[in-house]
Amino acid sequence: MLKVCHLYPDLLNLYGDRGNVMAYVRRCQWRGIEVEVHRINLGDPVDFREMDFLFLGGGSDREQNLMAKDLENRRELLHAAAEEGLVVLAICGGYQLLGKYYRTLEGHVIPGLGLLDFYTEAGRKRMIGNVVVELEIDGERVRVTGFENHAGRTFLGQISPLGRVLVGYGNNGEDGTEGARYKNVFCSYLHGPLLPKNPRLTDHLISLALRRRGLPAELAPLDDRLERAATEIMLKRLLK
Ligand code: GLN
Repeated sequence: MLKVCHLYPDLLNLYGDRGNVMAYVRRCQWRGIEVEVHRINLGDPVDFREMDFLFLGGGSDREQNLMAKDLENRRELLHAAAEEGLVVLAICGGYQLLGKYYRTLEGHVIPGLGLLDFYTEAGRKRMIGNVVVELEIDGERVRVTGFENHAGRTFLGQISPLGRVLVGYGNNGEDGTEGARYKNVFCSYLHGPLLPKNPRLTDHLISLALRRRGLPAELAPLDDRLERAATEIMLKRLLK
């Protein structure tokens, strides 16, 4: 049984980010892996160490501000869980909240959790459009596609990016990096939602969660012909 924690499902849910949780759950269930979803809103208690997969979606500056304080109260538990291998996927606004801070265009600083070494500052130009990113999964190069829409420009410190931008802006439109990766914490600007579009990545996040619990992490293959065909079309369209 895997426990999935969807943090702030009511507030952080841009561009169908909830679909990431649905894809994760479905791909487990199709293989007979039982899943329980915990929807955690502001103030709800949760011990992240008991969870297997934590998902944080995207939100606007206003929503990020609303939850910064609540998240601050959870800092220690989340930090401990991430250090011992909790699998986390944080998208866009949720991603930004895990760093040191997010500075809005007006100069208002929203403190982040400081869980990962990066900061974000809003720029004048919104970075919008389809994205292709190359990342490495178990030593294999994988191209993932998605959609970005953010004003925040993220700059990484001593931390690896999730991948390399082939098309689009990624973290800041300058240095070719996209997202961030620390232990089993995956951060990305890609909406899409990301996981339904990229089953290889979804399966990787499932395997990592199983491995953390000492369970067999080898996953039975599923029929991904539709997903693969959709990705191929996007790659052809975008990688001219
Ligand atoms: N407020 C953030 C930005 O515009 C996040 C937006 C998002 O989650 N799509 O950079």
